[in-house]
Amino acid sequence: MRKVIDGKQIARELIETVTLEVRGFRERHGLAPALAVILVGEDPASDVYVRQKVKQCDVAGIRSVEYRLPKDTDEPMLRQLIHRLNSDKTVHGILVQLPLPAHIDAAAMLDAIDPGKDVDGFHPVNMGRLSSGNEGLTPCTPLGCLMLLDTVIDELRGKHAVVIGKSNIVGKPVAMLLLERECTVTVTHIATRGLPDIVRHADIVVAAAGSPSLVRGDWIKRGAVVIDVGITRVQRADGKTVLVGDCAIEEMAHAAAVTPVPGGVGPMTIACLLANTLKAARMSFHG
Ligand code: NAD
Repeated sequence: MRKVIDGKQIARELIETVTLEVRGFRERHGLAPALAVILVGEDPASDVYVRQKVKQCDVAGIRSVEYRLPKDTDEPMLRQLIHRLNSDKTVHGILVQLPLPAHIDAAAMLDAIDPGKDVDGFHPVNMGRLSSGNEGLTPCTPLGCLMLLDTVIDELRGKHAVVIGKSNIVGKPVAMLLLERECTVTVTHIATRGLPDIVRHADIVVAAAGSPSLVRGDWIKRGAVVIDVGITRVQRADGKTVLVGDCAIEEMAHAAAVTPVPGGVGPMTIACLLANTLKAARMSFHG
């Protein structure tokens, strides 16, 4: 019964569509959509993410510019770079790779980004637009979750969705998107009591807790769809590091569909970043 949603394939298809549309944009406007990626410090995981993003931009014909700043970069220096990129008309998207070093106020830096170039969708203006159901730049991972759901559910309206996690980058925006599609949404978090029983009522489960195999098979209603956002690096007994999701999907044979980790939500995040960069580039011409 259970379908494993192939996030890699769906992301590939989205990137193909973006690539075609980028070609059209370049022909119409005589320049490529461009993304500036800022990385402060030498966090190895962030380095991998930035390299993947830059590589995929290349595939789609999006120009990317990397700014790799030393770990002792201070807030005024970072703010100055963001302001410069805000006013550069040839740059359409700005992404500050998180986490930032502890001495930098990440929220203040995200606030400094022009909302029209905020391709991560974390700026308060974009969060506000999302909450009020208005058009804006939507955070990439939540957007990817909705796209995956749309491949397996014809009509989201009326479904009961349980979101596990309430972070600003995944849980809250995913809940807002589901609400906008007229799901009945329950948002849960670390202090939620009786989580398994709440999840048992869900037609849709979106797990974004960062807690490996938190969600067990007997929490899942027959025919539910499970979107596993969690990614935790776990070292196996043989010393190999593997990526583990929040859901024990091997126990979920009675679900209608599940996303694997890796290969589910992860690839959608980068594909949606490319789509957001194109959207920001279009907005720069059409408002
Ligand atoms: P976060 O730590 O900011 O938030 C985690 C949320 O989960 C919190 O609201 C917390 O209250 C809740 N939570 C934690 N443990 C819980 C538990 N046992 N029961 C119920 N709720 C619990 O994390 P985040 O940035 O939102 O990321 C969540 C997970 O998603 C992480 O594993 C992260 O690596 C992953 N992630 C994946 C992608 C992707 O592209 N696939 C993107 C972003 C985040």
